[in-house]
Amino acid sequence: MSRLYSSRKRILVTGGAGFLGSHLCDRLIADGHDVLCADNFFTGDKSNIEHLVGEPRFELLRHDITFPLFVEVDEIYNLACPASPIHYQHDPVQTTKTSVHGSINMLGLAKRLKAKILQASTSEVYGDPAVHPQTEGYWGHVNPIGPRSCYDEGKRCAETLFFDYHRQHGLEIKVARIFNTYGPRMHPADGRVVSNFIVQALKGESITLYGDGQQSRSFCYVDDLIDGLVRLMDSAAEVTGPINLGNPREFTMAELAAQVIAATGSKSELTHAPLPEDDPRQRQPDIGKARQWLGWEPRVPLADGLERTIAYFRGLAVA
Ligand code: NAD
Ligand code: UDP
Ligand code: UDP
Repeated sequence: MSRLYSSRKRILVTGGAGFLGSHLCDRLIADGHDVLCADNFFTGDKSNIEHLVGEPRFELLRHDITFPLFVEVDEIYNLACPASPIHYQHDPVQTTKTSVHGSINMLGLAKRLKAKILQASTSEVYGDPAVHPQTEGYWGHVNPIGPRSCYDEGKRCAETLFFDYHRQHGLEIKVARIFNTYGPRMHPADGRVVSNFIVQALKGESITLYGDGQQSRSFCYVDDLIDGLVRLMDSAAEVTGPINLGNPREFTMAELAAQVIAATGSKSELTHAPLPEDDPRQRQPDIGKARQWLGWEPRVPLADGLERTIAYFRGLAVA
């Protein structure tokens, strides 16, 4: 146990059975805390946290955060929300409810408990950005009525709610704007680009490049991201965010495809598919604030992170 008993906290992680949430539960348990994981298993999976079941400081609760929750905790990490476009567009009304009603419930819980609460926001609040790289001061360029809006506008409204609970009720809040993150425990059928390309490469199937493949993203390895979230939660009370967390190294999707093919030794060919509506052309975080306020920056280069993620998917025997 790396922390003293006296600093042991009871921590709620919503969305704790998902990709990021399960890694966060691992980290908080390793740090010596009591963890309550609440998840409705929409996109999460019990297999992501089954190694924690039986651990006395870990508790699993099947719960949908669009409904009220009455528990006793010291801190809340609000991660519940499908993150992949195919999943958040599957039931868009539920996606908005999860961000809006879910945030109201978790903020109400934090208010009653006087607990600190962190919101997993997203680079999607910048939409298809007209400012590059994106700084936290940029207000974004978001379509309010398109297929991505349930996610983007839901997350924007959640940020509004966090800041209004902070101003109106004096709640201690932390808002992280997370940029594309990848790693082990992404679902093989998740639809996100890194998992898609790796699974396709391992199966020897065509790699589906949407559009001309020149759109860019910046990919952060999961361990780096989790470290950023924990540092943000542990930061001084005046650090509310929003704070960008992501890896500033930017790649085109064509470059990513080439790296995955090289790293897997696959014979897969590229195939082009239509660019989804409102797909952002470019995305790169300015992480000056995270460096300054949290002393944080990502450490794992894409090549290393891809190697670890490929090893995970090989272990799942997806090929
Ligand atoms: P994920 O889909 O793997 O995890 C989301 C988890 O939330 C799942 O376990 C799902 O079952 C659960 N969930 C969904 N709706 C719920 C509800 N109403 N009540 C309770 N649980 C619910 O996605 P992830 O990549 O782990 O993302 C976690 C959080 O981080 C999300 O809020 C997402 O918006 C945010 N985020 C992720 C990324 C990324 O690149 N991974 C980028 C930006 C933001
Ligand atoms: N809430 C909750 N758990 C709590 C306290 C509140 O789920 O421990 C929910 C409650 O159901 C309410 C929401 O959080 O709908 C917002 O609570 P708040 O106190 O801010 O608003 P109010 O109850 O006054 O509408
Ligand atoms: N993408 C792709 N092929 C795929 C899946 C995604 O070319 O099989 C592209 C997608 O069009 C987008 C980028 O990869 O430009 C990242 O997509 P993802 O869904 O992972 O995340 P987001 O668009 O939310 O950043």
